[in-house]
Amino acid sequence: MKVVCVGGGPASLYLAILLKLRDRHRHVTVHERNPAGATYGWGVTYWPDMLATLAAHDRPSARAIEEHSVKWGDGVAHVREATTVHHGDEGFAIGRHELLRILAERASSLGVDVQFDHAVPPGDPALDGDLIVAGDGSRSPLREQHAEHFGTRITSGNNRFIWLGTTQVFRSFTFAFVETDHGWLWCYAYGFDSRHSTFIVECAPHTWTGLGLDTMAGADALKLLESLFAAPLEGHPLIGRTDIDGPSQWEQFRTVTNRVWSYGNLVLLGDAAHTTHYSIGAGTTLAMQDAMALAQALQNAPLPAALGHYERVRKGELLRLQNAARHSAGWYENLTRYIEMEPHQMFALLGQRHSPLLPYIPPQLYYRVDRAVDRTQALRSLKRWLGPRIAQLLGS
Ligand SMILES: Cc1cc2nc3c(=O)[nH]c(=O)nc-3n(C[C@H](O)[C@H](O)[C@H](O)COP(=O)(O)OP(=O)(O)OC[C@H]3O[C@@H](n4cnc5c(N)ncnc54)[C@H](O)[C@@H]3O)c2cc1C
Repeated sequence: MKVVCVGGGPASLYLAILLKLRDRHRHVTVHERNPAGATYGWGVTYWPDMLATLAAHDRPSARAIEEHSVKWGDGVAHVREATTVHHGDEGFAIGRHELLRILAERASSLGVDVQFDHAVPPGDPALDGDLIVAGDGSRSPLREQHAEHFGTRITSGNNRFIWLGTTQVFRSFTFAFVETDHGWLWCYAYGFDSRHSTFIVECAPHTWTGLGLDTMAGADALKLLESLFAAPLEGHPLIGRTDIDGPSQWEQFRTVTNRVWSYGNLVLLGDAAHTTHYSIGAGTTLAMQDAMALAQALQNAPLPAALGHYERVRKGELLRLQNAARHSAGWYENLTRYIEMEPHQMFALLGQRHSPLLPYIPPQLYYRVDRAVDRTQALRSLKRWLGPRIAQLLGS
């Protein structure tokens, strides 16, 4: 079987590894348009259970990923002058460059033909295989060519965000909310190696235009953000993206869904198939889980049936997280509903931002009930059962 993967992100590279592990005789190629070591973004998070899942599929790459990751155990929120700490919010982060290096090296060592600097647009002669994998990201050119068949739906969030890095190393997952004359700005920041952190800044559209960030030159915008986030940055600079795709840009998050995930022998994988808002920090994990499911489906059934099975399994598994991501993005779009609460209350509800109930219940009441519920096992179960049903009733 000849498999051609377009895009050298975590989805394609991990699929290539798993396909080779299952059958060394498969011919698997990964085409990445960028040179080796050049990619967008900074560090990405993942959650504790992911390491065990990765190890169950491929122990060497799981071990390398763990070795090159940093772990945090606390969450910290700064609101104006107040700081609140939550102990026990465990998670991991790894530099995107490092993750892709590990996966590309592992794939090559297993005999995958990894070709960097090789863009494969629709119609390219390289698209010649028994299976063509569109792992070419959220703007997938291969998907776009058949957007009508796939039933692609793209919705843009209202808020603006920019994905930056910094040399300030945040040892906890850190949120900082800063008030300006034009509204609130906030950052999500976490260290991903011994010298750098990811620093994502987000704000409402009126804050973005009010501060002039929509028209400001990139370097001036970084200076303004450095001054607004001077307290958490403690004198460290913010760094824009310097990769091949050009400097960091302000964006609106695009949620991608597809009615169907394959067309003949072309199958969508990772962000090409679905995206989930970055505030739940799961896109990379989900992309690699797609790879696990597709490799398994191809093991168990011949081609057309395998692709159908993969789609059904993954759509089912994704539903809960897609809903959580939608509610999480909505929490930030309605920040003013929560930001004037006592900081510890606000932080507690930030931790509940995935809840389908929260948008419908006055925040103070939700907070009080949630505290009470947490003390009783029976009420906790009731809340878990009730949440999705009430959201469904309310048409969420
Ligand atoms: C601000 C932000 C923060 C995020 N933070 C996290 C996080 O903390 N944790 C997490 O799990 N996820 C996070 N994500 C999501 C994560 O980055 C993606 O979900 C993940 O990278 C998807 O992997 P992928 O392989 O499907 O696509 P990508 O990683 O996008 O890879 C696609 C690749 O295809 C290549 N390509 C495109 N077109 C072609 C072509 N024609 N020919 C050849 N190559 C091509 C691209 O260059 C790219 O390398 C974040 C996303 C954003 C925007």
